[in-house]
Amino acid sequence: MAISKTDILEQLKRVKGPDLTGNIVDLGLVSDIFIADGKVFFSLTIPAERAEELEPLRAAAEKAASSVAGVDKATVALTAEASASTARAVRPAPSPAQAAAVPPPMAARARPQTPQPPQKAGVPGIGAIIAVASGKGGVGKSTTSVNLALGLQANGLKVGIMDADIYGPSMPRLLHISGRPQNVSGRIIKPMEGYGLKVMSMGFLVDEETPMIWRGPMVISALTQMLREVEWGELDVLVVDMPPGTGDAQLTMAQNVPLAGAVIVSTPQDLALIDARKGLAMFRKVDVPILGIVENMSYFICPDCGGRHDIFGHGGARKEAERIGVPFLGEVPLDMQIRSTSDGGTPIVMSEPDSVHARTYREIARIAWERVGEERRMVSAPSIVFE
Ligand code: ADP
Repeated sequence: MAISKTDILEQLKRVKGPDLTGNIVDLGLVSDIFIADGKVFFSLTIPAERAEELEPLRAAAEKAASSVAGVDKATVALTAEASASTARAVRPAPSPAQAAAVPPPMAARARPQTPQPPQKAGVPGIGAIIAVASGKGGVGKSTTSVNLALGLQANGLKVGIMDADIYGPSMPRLLHISGRPQNVSGRIIKPMEGYGLKVMSMGFLVDEETPMIWRGPMVISALTQMLREVEWGELDVLVVDMPPGTGDAQLTMAQNVPLAGAVIVSTPQDLALIDARKGLAMFRKVDVPILGIVENMSYFICPDCGGRHDIFGHGGARKEAERIGVPFLGEVPLDMQIRSTSDGGTPIVMSEPDSVHARTYREIARIAWERVGEERRMVSAPSIVFE
C-alpha cells in the first residue's frame, strides 16, 4: 500500500511543538520525510541542548507517523542540524550583532559555538572511533574497512564495525551476516556479530534492493541511531565505513561522529588521488586527524603467472602522502583472492590469515592504531571524549 506523505504530515500536525505552542509541522521542525518499504524516516530539528528534555516529543512524532495506514515502522531522530527557519522557531532570536556576524549565505549552516552539541560526545564503552573514507566509490573502501577491523582484532583489540555507507550498505554481504538485529530494550538494539566483530549496518534494517534516496537529515539520523542506540558493549575501537564522497552529508557526519581519526583509501590513479585529496580536506576542515592513506589496487598480481604488474601507476598515494605530510599506511594489490574472499563474505584477514595480504592488512591496522595513540598524546581535543 502506498504511503502518503500528506497523511503523515496531517498526523504530525497533531503533535504539539516543544513548548506546547503550535505543532511540529507548522513550526518547521520536521525534515524531509523518506519512505521506503513500509518504513518512514525523518528527523526533528531541535536545539542540541534540549535533546534529552525533548525525547517525549520524538516518541510522540514516531507514534503519530506509525498510525498512518501502510506504515510498518516510523523512525524519528532528533537532530540539531538547524535550518534557519527551525532555529528561529525554537531558539531566541539572535541579537543584531550576532546576526551581523554571520554572512547571509552561511546563516542556515551556522552552528552554535557553545556548548558543544551532544552528538560529538563519546560513545560510552567505545575507546576510539576510526572512520574509513574515500573520495569516490568503488576504490575498495568497504573491503579495506572490513579487513582493517579484522586486522585490529587479530592484533588483540575488541572491535566493532559500523556501516555508515547507508547509500550502499555492504557489511551484510562482506561479513556474510543475514537477519535482523534484536531489540534489547526500548529503542536499543543489539548489534549483529560476524567473525568476532560486532556489526551494525543499515543493510540489516532495510532490504538491499530498496532504493536509497537518503537526504542529508536522514543520513544523520540513521547514523546517530546506529552509533548511539546500539548496545555496542565494551570495544577498544569501532571502525566506521563512511559513505563515499565528500559532500555535505559526509562533512556533517565527519562533524557529528566523535572520531579519533580517519583512514583514507585511494587507488593509485591520479583522478582517485584528486578525490582522496578532497577527503583529506574534508576531515581537516572538521579537525579530525588523518591517520594515513592506504593505496588499494596498488599493483596487479596476475592470477596466471602470479607476477606483479604496476599497471595503475603504483605509488601515487605514497608520493601524495609524503607531499602533503600524512602517514602512508600501506599498499594492497589488486588481487583476485582479495576480491573473491571479500565478495564471498570471507574477508582475507579471517579466511587466509597466513597470506601475504592478511599480513599487509594487519600491518596497516597496527600502524593506524599506533597513530591513534600518537594523535591522542599530541592533541588534547576538548570536543572528543574518550571514556
Ligand atoms: P567501495 O567500498 O570503495 O565502493 P568495495 O570495497 O565495495 O569498494 O570494492 C569494490 C569492488 O572491488 C569489490 O568487488 C571488491 O571485492 C573489489 N576489491 C576491493 N579491493 C580489492 C583488491 N585489493 N583487489 C581486488 N579486488 C578488490
